[in-house]
Amino acid sequence: MSDARWNIDTRLIHAGDPRPGIDGAVVTPIFQSANFEHAGDGAYDDVRYIRLNNTPNHDALAAKLAAVGGAEAAIVTASGMAAITTAILSTVGAGDHILFSRHLYGGTRSFVEDELPRLGVAFDLIDPEKPDDWAALVRPETRAVYVETISNPTMRIPDLEAVVALGRDRELVTMIDNTFASPINFRPAEIGFDLVLHSGTKYLNGHSDIVAGAVLGRGDLIDDLRHRLNLLGGSLDPHACFLLGRGMATLGLRVRRQNETALALAELLDDRPEVTGVNYPGLPAHPGHAHASRLFGGYGGMLSFELAGGLDAADRFMSALHIPISAPSLGGVHSLVTRPATTSHAGMPPEDRRAVGVTDGLIRLSVGIESAADLTADIEQALDASLRPAG
Ligand code: PLP
Repeated sequence: MSDARWNIDTRLIHAGDPRPGIDGAVVTPIFQSANFEHAGDGAYDDVRYIRLNNTPNHDALAAKLAAVGGAEAAIVTASGMAAITTAILSTVGAGDHILFSRHLYGGTRSFVEDELPRLGVAFDLIDPEKPDDWAALVRPETRAVYVETISNPTMRIPDLEAVVALGRDRELVTMIDNTFASPINFRPAEIGFDLVLHSGTKYLNGHSDIVAGAVLGRGDLIDDLRHRLNLLGGSLDPHACFLLGRGMATLGLRVRRQNETALALAELLDDRPEVTGVNYPGLPAHPGHAHASRLFGGYGGMLSFELAGGLDAADRFMSALHIPISAPSLGGVHSLVTRPATTSHAGMPPEDRRAVGVTDGLIRLSVGIESAADLTADIEQALDASLRPAG
């Protein structure tokens, strides 16, 4: 059930779950059954089967996601990449053209550059902060425009309202990867985006213990996408649906805490002489600050920065940390630290990496929900250690 007047925190707990609960259960139980009894009529997509994304756990979770994101409908997928690839393949086909932000998650970028040309789909990359340049790239066969709310790892923010306006003017499907913001900080469907994609692995689940994805958006587009997902097979297991729903219950508490701590750490880093630059939309000098302040509920839990001592200092800093774990991925309760040049952007040629601001010494921090005081003390001692040559 859901009520449109409810605050997002109430929707996160109650939306989608049947009331009264099944056999009185407060939490929707896990329906770990691949198939369900069937009367033998209806369409293929109506047969109840895990791959067809229609078990009670899929239905409850999809309804919760749609309510939380302010969207007409939603669908759950086996990973963020399943959400992204299925959504793109549902929107474009051979002979079509699509515009992508040039700041893309590495997996998405590989799919776009390596797979779309093989399928006969043409694309152009746009600078997401320069809307005046976009219209010239729209062709009669352009079907969609795709951006990310906050880009990895430099936290750039597109002119989001201009993307929606371009979509309306030129009849393009507007698509956005909202993983970094989460529905707590920004709900793109509410300003008119057609399809909103999430890696559920990150903030939505928030505990670094499953891989999942979701697409939220216009009902007609989600219907198309569901049919394609049923054929492509990227469905989430019911147990993982249950875990994702459980993780989402605390999304508001986690993300607001992460927003607060990340802002405090970004300000701390910005004041330190060993740090030459900090990428965080909450800092007034960040190019997306005004935009984020107007549209977002918070600036997020992700930041990146560069040390004056370059790569060696970055290595010393990372090895001196006691709390953040050196691991890829983001958005969970544990703070995580990476060097994007060796993780998320390792597959990119060095010159392309540098063009999107990923230098070899850049450090990315995904802020968890540990004590802000403990994280501050740990980062301060690691900055001190970054100045001491090994020996
Ligand atoms: N989108 C963004 C912004 C990501 O950071 C990631 C993964 O890091 C993905 C999508 C892909 O998600 P998944 O690993 O769940 O497939």
